[in-house]
Amino acid sequence: MISLYFHIPFCSKKCPYCHFYVIPNKAAYHPLLAEGLEREWQMRLPQTGKAPIQSIYFGGGTPSLFGPAQIGQVLQRIGNRAPDCEITLEANPEEIDEARLCLFREVGINRLSLGVQSLDDRSLQTLERIHTASKAKEAIFAAKQAGFDNISIDLMYDLPGQTEASWRYTLDQIGDLPITHLSLYNLTIEPHTPFDRRKATLLPLIPPPELSLKLLQSAVEELEKKGLHRYEISAFAKAGCESKHNVGYWIGRPFLGFGPSAFSFWEGSRFRNTPNLNKYTKLLNEGKFPVDFKEKLPYPANVNEQLAVELRLIRGVDLSKWELPEETLITLDRLEKGGLLEKSPTGYRLSERGLLVYDSVAEDIISYDVRVSEAENRT
Ligand code: SF4
Repeated sequence: MISLYFHIPFCSKKCPYCHFYVIPNKAAYHPLLAEGLEREWQMRLPQTGKAPIQSIYFGGGTPSLFGPAQIGQVLQRIGNRAPDCEITLEANPEEIDEARLCLFREVGINRLSLGVQSLDDRSLQTLERIHTASKAKEAIFAAKQAGFDNISIDLMYDLPGQTEASWRYTLDQIGDLPITHLSLYNLTIEPHTPFDRRKATLLPLIPPPELSLKLLQSAVEELEKKGLHRYEISAFAKAGCESKHNVGYWIGRPFLGFGPSAFSFWEGSRFRNTPNLNKYTKLLNEGKFPVDFKEKLPYPANVNEQLAVELRLIRGVDLSKWELPEETLITLDRLEKGGLLEKSPTGYRLSERGLLVYDSVAEDIISYDVRVSEAENRT
């Protein structure tokens, strides 16, 4: 099984916290991207072989801005889809209505991921989003009316000035919405963003660690009550509606990324396309792959990294998948004795405490390789 990702970089307005490769939604850019995607598909086609495609994901940017006709054209070229292939489109609430969503369904989209972020207008203003909470809810119901049974939304917490009451106000509205999946993110201030430049003013307004923990815990509790079970550190779903595409990332399923800035994980290598639309299309037209970064981790760094990523799943890792070095098994045992991991039927999973400090658990597993190379350099 494999997955495909298409990066559509257009946005109506760049959000001040966004660090993705995004460009203004100008009509002139659409044919350029369409041309690049077609060329890239032709060049990558021999690689995809006969492996059934488990999921296709249009992310961005705001892929819905590319329009149903262009998205349909991309999908038309892709045969070999598994019968239950999940095909997701990201969209923003202000850009869709029922009629447009029906067109996306007609071209084959069967899952929608909406960038809602909050259902409190004050938080949406802090994030400088274009939509209001009522527009977000309208978009979710429009998606349902258009026939989407699999609707995911993104929510963000740890926002400047956010209080428990404001967060609760958002959570209280979730139960009335026809959603099947929710991704929960905490705001991080990324380098080279407008929020980064305003860091001195924003940082004192960001919830301190104790409040942040309360916001997370109240979300987990509320979402579980509403039937959205936590299946990954930041992902919640109704039973059977876990994202096939995202699970693929966590279990190391090979995927090919298309479009400027898209990442791929293929035959054990990770590579990225250039984050520049003109350059991306130019290189493809010259018959060259637009890759500007590539790495292949050696053993055991590769298995340690995959193990750390798969631990994000609440069900834990399946240790029989890898041949782990003795040192990694010792680390896992130590993390279990320290209360950060617990035994699962297939290996280990994060404990309640481990879930709160996943980054340091992952670092502990991955940094074994750093320790080894440092020791080798000393000898
Ligand atoms: S809508 Fe999403 S992709 Fe576009 S600028 Fe905002 S956060 Fe970035």
